[in-house]
Amino acid sequence: DRLVAALADGEDRAVEAALRPKDLAEFVGQERVREQLDLVLKAARQRGGTADHVLLSGAPGLGKTTLSMIIAAEMGAPIRITSGPAIQHAGDLAAILSSLAEGEVLFLDEIHRMSRPAEEMLYMAMEDFRVDVVVGKGPGATAIPLELPPFTLVGATTRAGLLPPPLRDRFGFTGHMEFYAPAELERVLHRSARLLDVPLDAEGAAEIAGRSRGTPRIANRLLRRVRDFAQVKADGVVTREVAAAALDVYEVDGRGLDRLDRAVLDALLRLFGGGPVGLSTLAVAVGEERETVEEVAEPFLVREGLLARTPRGRIATPAAWAHLGLAPPQGTGA
Ligand code: ADP
Repeated sequence: DRLVAALADGEDRAVEAALRPKDLAEFVGQERVREQLDLVLKAARQRGGTADHVLLSGAPGLGKTTLSMIIAAEMGAPIRITSGPAIQHAGDLAAILSSLAEGEVLFLDEIHRMSRPAEEMLYMAMEDFRVDVVVGKGPGATAIPLELPPFTLVGATTRAGLLPPPLRDRFGFTGHMEFYAPAELERVLHRSARLLDVPLDAEGAAEIAGRSRGTPRIANRLLRRVRDFAQVKADGVVTREVAAAALDVYEVDGRGLDRLDRAVLDALLRLFGGGPVGLSTLAVAVGEERETVEEVAEPFLVREGLLARTPRGRIATPAAWAHLGLAPPQGTGA
């Protein structure tokens, strides 16, 4: 398990509930989504109805679950949380939908991974607040229409483009969540430090923020590791020196790259002169599976402008040479 993984691990799940902002005002950053959502919710409250269905797109750890809970809280409604992969059969979805209370928020994480029959049932439920429950099998099967109370679906996906257009079109509002700027992550960290009772100074927060890959979940996780270090090896106060020393122990560098990311870059630069090199060759060189390099390491390296994927293979950018403190070879243009 990587310290810089964007998906939640067991420990995250245990502590995240305590760190979740409870209302829109407390939710850091994402100004545009927050402002738009604020209008959607206020208007729904004024009409005394349920809010439109909301689609949230963005990378893991950016606050989609948190926002869905805030939507429910702002609407004074209960919330049910499930995910696309958990809904294998249309019947699973029918069971959930038919047990919703009026106005309830249904949070469907990874909505793009729902099965096709469930997806089709969802279309009708979203539009007409109705499902057809099929009873029996084969020629004797009958569809029994079932009325649903009005509810608000909050769907979450890593990319809105992954959704079939008929599903996408049934959302009244789509919010695109962006990666967080360092200053925003510093605010997240100060807030979490207060809640966890960790003495954190401004420079300590900046140091952790810079290594958090634009992601609040990672920032909160790094803060916990730094807190341990501060407690055991220092006087408990998280300063820049303490944060940097702690994260060096965990091999998360100043830019948020971990050992795997650096191994990939290092091989690309030292063994292949900065590329171009094929993915499989690069994977063998670092002793990892092709998929691991492609799906775990590369997206962040590409986002950071350290690596580029070209038709001829992977190439390092000038920033990659600089980051590893190496001089680019002469005459390559790098
Ligand atoms: P997602 O559902 O997108 O994977 P979560 O909503 O579970 O992300 O957020 C992960 C963690 O990051 C939670 O502990 C949450 O408190 C924190 N977090 C996310 N966004 C924010 C934010 N804007 N302000 C403060 N904390 C945040």
